[in-house]
Amino acid sequence: MTIQAPETVADGQLFIHGTFVPSASGETREVVNPATEGVICRVAWGSVADLDQAVTAARGAFEDGDWPALTLKQRGRVLLRIADAIEEHAEELARLESLDVGKPISFTRGFDVPSAADLFRYYGGMVEQLEGAARPAGGRSLAYTRREPLGVVGAITPFNFPFNLAVNKIAPALAAGNTFVLKPAEQTPLSALRLAGIMHEAGLPAGVFNVVTGDGATVGARLATHPDVRKLAFTGSTATGKRLAATAADTLKRVTLELGGKGANIVFADADLDAATQWAFQAAFFNTGQFCMSGSRLLVQRPVYDEMVKRMAAQAAAVPVGDPLDPETVLGPLAHRAQLARVVEYVAIARAEGAVLRAGGSAGIEGDADARGYYFQPTVFSDVTPRMRIANEEVFGPVLTITPFDTEDEAVAIANGSPFGLAAGLHTTDLRRAHQIAARLEAGIVWVNSWAMFENTTSFGGYKDSGYGRELGPEGIDEYLQAKTVVVNTE
Ligand code: ADP
Repeated sequence: MTIQAPETVADGQLFIHGTFVPSASGETREVVNPATEGVICRVAWGSVADLDQAVTAARGAFEDGDWPALTLKQRGRVLLRIADAIEEHAEELARLESLDVGKPISFTRGFDVPSAADLFRYYGGMVEQLEGAARPAGGRSLAYTRREPLGVVGAITPFNFPFNLAVNKIAPALAAGNTFVLKPAEQTPLSALRLAGIMHEAGLPAGVFNVVTGDGATVGARLATHPDVRKLAFTGSTATGKRLAATAADTLKRVTLELGGKGANIVFADADLDAATQWAFQAAFFNTGQFCMSGSRLLVQRPVYDEMVKRMAAQAAAVPVGDPLDPETVLGPLAHRAQLARVVEYVAIARAEGAVLRAGGSAGIEGDADARGYYFQPTVFSDVTPRMRIANEEVFGPVLTITPFDTEDEAVAIANGSPFGLAAGLHTTDLRRAHQIAARLEAGIVWVNSWAMFENTTSFGGYKDSGYGRELGPEGIDEYLQAKTVVVNTE
């Protein structure tokens, strides 16, 4: 089936104040299909002037208009209608995301799109439960707290989970009563633009949600400096996150940062190795390894080390790599050309450092010399020592390193030896060990005998260089609220 981007995203426009509009300069850029290297469509290339216009629209929608006039019940209902509308457009959105990002269609159908709809439902249901509290107060006074929105929220999202990482911010921010300006990644802006139209059709008032596509260093950076943006929600690289936090300090806007990762996945000798192999594979190769919560470092206790190396290499060699729109595909291409170049470079570094290549190692699709697209074979390195660059730096591609260890203490030391602290995991049949090691790992989420199991009710976020702030769960909406104390003299 031929896939075309829907007209709503293919006509090179931004979404500001409830309508699609061209950028001030009229400039547009190509969006490339990473599986074919063909052009999908063109999107508007916004500027600082466009961003400022979007913030003005969002500020207007926050201060007056239909959004602040809604009762909590009505606001909640808008979010529930958006959830329904996403489901009504589920197949279209899943195909669009696969086309734009190169994600296998089975994943966009099974995870990206349904979990986004569910998240609008989760936070939509929470709107009426955002309680303040009555507080004891001295003398004849009464004190209570209100939980209020912040105002205009700006968000900057990366190329790897464009739909989910946007919705993780949009749903709680709107549930809390804020308005929103999104700057999606340059390479993968299509689902955000389509979502804007869908949300508007579902009844979101004009100006509440705006999308400005364009360059990070100009349009994105303006979100961090704009005095009317009260909070910046960012997912992306640690380097950009640190820069944005420093810039945002000038206007004292709140910042949440979900940054890089180098997740350690620990397999103890007592683990169920069949299950551990499946989870370790998912941990390393889900989304072609372009996943900040990937388990890209597999640490294996020595008695089962050789066996796990063999299993991981066999699994990597057998996985179906290819067309993202084929329902059988498990691994698609990297999302853009520069990402492929980065993976090629890191594989060369690993080889030069003395890591032993057990599977993959090359660009392209094994057995298909004519394949176009930004493919890289799933790659497994063994004999990786904790000091190697390949064991410390985030590759963001289908590259797994395997490192042996002997003791619990050694495993924890290697796992925590990374500057990152986003996700970690462990596999064991010993209950005592599972809880003790989970408590010792420096990561915002720890998966025991699993990996990448997400629930809307459970939050994730960084320790250390992986950032601060949480997404999903009750903690996810706290990031978009501020507390006000009201003290009433009843004398
Ligand atoms: P990645 O490696 O995921 O591309 P980046 O941090 O470079 O990580 O990009 C993530 C998002 O941050 C993208 O939307 C990008 O446009 C944006 N971005 C990049 N540089 C800046 C910057 N200097 N200021 C604001 N946003 C930026």
